[in-house]
Amino acid sequence: MSASAPRRSKANRLLYDAQGRLDIKSLSLPELEAWVVEELGWKRYRAKQVWKWLWQKGARTFDEMTDLSRDARTRLAGVAYIHFLEPEVVLRSADGTLKYLWKLEDGRTVESVLIPDGDRLTLCMSSQVGCAMGCTFCLTGDLGLIRHLKPSEIANQPLQVGLQLPEGTRITNLVYMGMGEPLHNFDNLVTALGTCLDDNALNYSHRRITVSTVGLVPRLEELGETLPVNLAVSLNASNQEHRLQIMPITRKYSLQELLDTCRDLDLPSGKRITFEYVMFRDDNDGLEDAKRLVKLLHGIKAKVNLIPYNENPDRDLRRPPEERIAAFQDYLHSRGLNCTVRTSRGLDISAACGQLGKAWEQAKDGGWLEDARRLAGYHPTSANP
Ligand code: SAH
Ligand code: SF4
Repeated sequence: MSASAPRRSKANRLLYDAQGRLDIKSLSLPELEAWVVEELGWKRYRAKQVWKWLWQKGARTFDEMTDLSRDARTRLAGVAYIHFLEPEVVLRSADGTLKYLWKLEDGRTVESVLIPDGDRLTLCMSSQVGCAMGCTFCLTGDLGLIRHLKPSEIANQPLQVGLQLPEGTRITNLVYMGMGEPLHNFDNLVTALGTCLDDNALNYSHRRITVSTVGLVPRLEELGETLPVNLAVSLNASNQEHRLQIMPITRKYSLQELLDTCRDLDLPSGKRITFEYVMFRDDNDGLEDAKRLVKLLHGIKAKVNLIPYNENPDRDLRRPPEERIAAFQDYLHSRGLNCTVRTSRGLDISAACGQLGKAWEQAKDGGWLEDARRLAGYHPTSANP
């Protein structure tokens, strides 16, 4: 990663606002340090002060940064701006799950889902608007890739949700399992992860962060070498042929290549790769699949997370009956594989896996966003952090 200020390019087109001011929250700490020295002619340590205001205190204006001189604050406000996500609507599920729909600077929308579960409070984060990977079962995939999220748009999700929580409550886990393929937006993901991990920023432990990927092999290796976060790989099929049918990325990186990469990853001690396996009724939910899965994962520090398919009106796919899921899980257990079943959360507000994105993107052209707002009891001012 370069440590100088980012260049204006098509990929980075939203890094500067209409007045040409830099989105300062899209910089990593090393980039911010280089920027204050090179662009402002300040001492390097100033960057750390600004950084803490941005990410520890959640400052909305440079004026709040009271340990900087008035001149310094005015100077900053002339050349940079502080990015915040606008909550368009916040939906609450009967099971306590909250779905945040964020409106972005270009009018696009993206979602985060906050899932309370015992003493855990997990935020499911998005990395792109839409997704280019085209997995046949996934509604986010139907959108295609609309655009990558900037680092600020990624790291602001936990910051802003965190700011809204009651005193003493904190998000405990971050999972990159919302809209998009995180490793397809690699550089921005790594910058945002750095912000999530930094002691002087969001300060999450790497043990509490999971990046879920369709399996972009070179990027998976690179992430494994760059940061010690948890990795989850979406497998979803127990053989090459079937995976080819539902996950087009398999054409580029075969199942074998993906698994060999996972086998060779130098994982930090105690870490295992989670293999996500979405279960489709009468399709990949039989014992012969379970048997193949055990063979495939042989020699990999693995655990399996079974995800019963979340049904939706756009697909004929069905989730398997409970007993079939249990039999599958039992088989994996009997062969010594750690295996959990993911409970669907937030189904009533379309917040469950694979339900994100599409409805909202369409809603912008239709009339029912107003209805959703009313249902959510949405009040623009109280929903703002
Ligand atoms: N792009 C990344 C992360 C986002 S998708 C990835 O694919 O891993 C997060 C998970 O949701 C993936 O495991 C995906 O296979 C799963 N998923 C997608 N649609 C789903 C659906 N309708 N029901 C259940 N899981 C789904
Ligand atoms: Fe993209 Fe993941 Fe959906 Fe596949 S499952 S289309 S990679 S979001």
